[in-house]
Amino acid sequence: MSKSEQPRTISELEPLTRDWLTAIGENPGREGLERTPQRVAKAWAYMTEGYGQTLAGVVGEGIFAAEGSEMVIVKDIEFYSMCEHHMLPFYGRAHIAYIPNGKILGLSKFARIVDLYSRRLQVQERITTQVADAVQDLLAPKGVAVLMEGVHLCMAMRGVQKQNSSTTTSAMRGLFRSDARTRAEFMSAVQGTLRGR
Ligand code: ZN
Repeated sequence: MSKSEQPRTISELEPLTRDWLTAIGENPGREGLERTPQRVAKAWAYMTEGYGQTLAGVVGEGIFAAEGSEMVIVKDIEFYSMCEHHMLPFYGRAHIAYIPNGKILGLSKFARIVDLYSRRLQVQERITTQVADAVQDLLAPKGVAVLMEGVHLCMAMRGVQKQNSSTTTSAMRGLFRSDARTRAEFMSAVQGTLRGR
């Protein structure tokens, strides 16, 4: 575990959490809630870790020179984020593909990039474009595709209460945008993993 991965905490959240508990009609002094402010401060530090990280930092030495221009697909990257409208979780899976142009990225780095943009207040559409732009900037590949499918608890738990709805967002760059066959190859490769198919 590197220094930047040590558990952080946001101590300013502790008094705010006590006020929040009072505001919703709770008693912050009761036994079950006594240590809740500390837990919340620690959990939020983790869930918003992306604010303290950079793309260069998470990728590190993960870029390599490589021959070949076959499509690389990394499927089923779990993500967990918090929606910026309600500060409630949304989560799901991301699929990333690219066509190399002389450079490749270590496979574990794709998950780190997804975490970088997920661990902050977000909308799913923005994570999707940020991940695509990051891969584009890092590798200047012939094309990049990102598909994300997420369940939003702000929809499931409140308002419209659509418990089973999921949201799919995509960002296509280069050949994935200009060439229908390349795009179709990617979509059929990830399709089996999409919820409910
Ligand atoms: Zn929301």
